[in-house]
Amino acid sequence: MMRKRVLISLPVFLLCLVAATLLSGEPPLWKRLLDGEKQQRLGYNLVPILCFHDVNGAGPYSVSIKEFRNYLDILKKENIRVWPLHRVMEAARNNQLMDQPTMAITIDDDFENIARVAAPILREYDYPATFFVYTRDINNHPRGGMAWEDLKRLLAEGFDVQNHSHTHTAFHQPRRGESPEQFAERVHQEVVVSRDILEQHLPGHKIWAFAYPMGYYSPYLEARLREAQYQLILTVDAAPVDLMAKFTGIMDRYTIQKEYVDDPMAMFYKQIAYARKKYQSGEVAQVEEGPDGLK
Ligand SMILES: [Zn+2]
Repeated sequence: MMRKRVLISLPVFLLCLVAATLLSGEPPLWKRLLDGEKQQRLGYNLVPILCFHDVNGAGPYSVSIKEFRNYLDILKKENIRVWPLHRVMEAARNNQLMDQPTMAITIDDDFENIARVAAPILREYDYPATFFVYTRDINNHPRGGMAWEDLKRLLAEGFDVQNHSHTHTAFHQPRRGESPEQFAERVHQEVVVSRDILEQHLPGHKIWAFAYPMGYYSPYLEARLREAQYQLILTVDAAPVDLMAKFTGIMDRYTIQKEYVDDPMAMFYKQIAYARKKYQSGEVAQVEEGPDGLK
């Protein structure tokens, strides 16, 4: 009699155990399992962020207008969707996979032809972009530079403008003979005062991202940027954003350049291959080291 009762209740017990496991967690396990399957079917987890500079064709980081158009043509032809940086950040924060291969475009420094030449071309393609500018040379650049009016127009056209420091010098470590107090004050100028200048001259516009000038960083500088409550820090460490990785507040970019890589076009197509790579759960994205990008 005793034995029979045990036999009947064991399946019931197991059923309850399975149900309890499926309902456990937040969100519940059953939902996570279903979502995981959906993501595997639909999603792309790598999003390269491109970093352009000048479009006058002079210098190792510059591309000509023709080359710039060619890069955008290839994105269009290869069906790569271009998203605003902010949306890529939100997707990374929420571990949300892309339903289509996606990239973001950023352009660094505040050279005049970015506003006058690159932005109108981006508009032709209907591609969003974020411009990282440094404040010291706005209205005052030896090579022309952008004016505040240019930046206001870019914002009105739907582009984004974010911070690339005040002087565009190296401030990841103290200079020779600089005291800790002097260094801290210099970093404050580059990280905080530059943001105040941008927000004062561009009323209603929020500065939430900071791109390291020349790609130089240090744990100290990163800590100061976090203390200043930037939502996002950008490097030029040449790796795509992995949407399924834990969001750290730092995203890498791939610098379009032509003198420090053997085959710039092959490197660009590699970014396209990253964007097209479908997510497979449990897999750690294998991202090869790119060339060191300075600037
Ligand atoms: Zn720069």
